[in-house]
Amino acid sequence: MNDVVSASAPGRVNLIGEHTDYNGGMVLPAALNIGLEVSLIPRSDSAVAVSSDGYDAPAIRDVADDAVGGWSDPCVGAIREANRLGLLDAGVTLDLVSSIPAGSGLSSSAALIVAILKAARTYAGADLTDIDIAIAARRVENDYMGVPCGIMDQMTVALASPGSAMALDTKRMEYALIPLPASHDMVVLHSGITRKLTDGRYAARKQECDAAKRFFGTEDLCLIEEETVRGSDLADVPKRRALHCVSENARVHSAIAALDAGDIGEFGAVMNESHASMRDLFEMSLPAIDALVNDAVQIGAVGARLTGGGFGGCIVACIAKEEREGWLGEVLSRHPDARFIDAVSGA
Ligand code: ADP
Ligand code: MG
Repeated sequence: MNDVVSASAPGRVNLIGEHTDYNGGMVLPAALNIGLEVSLIPRSDSAVAVSSDGYDAPAIRDVADDAVGGWSDPCVGAIREANRLGLLDAGVTLDLVSSIPAGSGLSSSAALIVAILKAARTYAGADLTDIDIAIAARRVENDYMGVPCGIMDQMTVALASPGSAMALDTKRMEYALIPLPASHDMVVLHSGITRKLTDGRYAARKQECDAAKRFFGTEDLCLIEEETVRGSDLADVPKRRALHCVSENARVHSAIAALDAGDIGEFGAVMNESHASMRDLFEMSLPAIDALVNDAVQIGAVGARLTGGGFGGCIVACIAKEEREGWLGEVLSRHPDARFIDAVSGA
């Protein structure tokens, strides 16, 4: 009997719209070429046995285990969710192969959980949609791993395909595919600094946003008028977080309009404004990342910004295709810790 089922999911880069997805706002992520592949073999006992090319020793856990802060937590959480959904009824053996750097803002965790759930769906022959899978994958991060993330990562890696960005309205759960420009590459560079979203800084920002939501009596921080936020008596820190959310949401709309109009200069300008807002208002950047972003633009990118949850990880820069090679050489020579990860563009 051959019970092996496989599934894959890509990494993703968020082009613009950071920390808007749990505040009722818009995001604009795109699937990357790098990705993760899972092979799953159901077991008759309750063990979750995981080998991964990213980690030396396999992990042996139990499907009943709570999260322990270890690398196999997303796997155990995904299998528990698969059991809850009736896709599996015991433990599994998992084998993972990935080209997505973990802890770098490119959604390795969501890709991992979505791929496991898709493999379990195939095994069960269930008719869950990819949106159902994305919602279940978010539950694993929120409820099992304790990462209070929005729905962007899971929706992107469950549904997106290369060549387009996904303009996702996280309040309405509606999306449109926006073709990426063919003339420019969206280049992903790793800063050399990794981080864990479970380390508390992401959760701290979420709590500051929650304080602003309570003050204004809304779940949809991104949808408040900027003047209302500016003129309010909200304390300084949550006010700056709210101003980032409101202005970032407006920038996602501007970025979509710029791509639709083929105005790459405007698209780059809003990327730069987004980075300044993440640095100054949301305070989720680091000096080394600011320097990388500044140099990327100074050396010729039309725009660049930190991408992902923040406090390390990757930047994304928009650069004309014919300039990319020379630009990349110069950026990496100024930033020896940085490295090229991937690039996406339209056909
Ligand atoms: P990101 O999603 O931005 O990459 P996270 O901190 O959310 O960063 O998720 C990283 C976690 O995902 C890792 O700590 C590990 O638990 C899991 N993970 C990612 N890639 C792999 C892999 N190849 N094998 C096993 N676990 C992985
Ligand atoms: Mg993640």
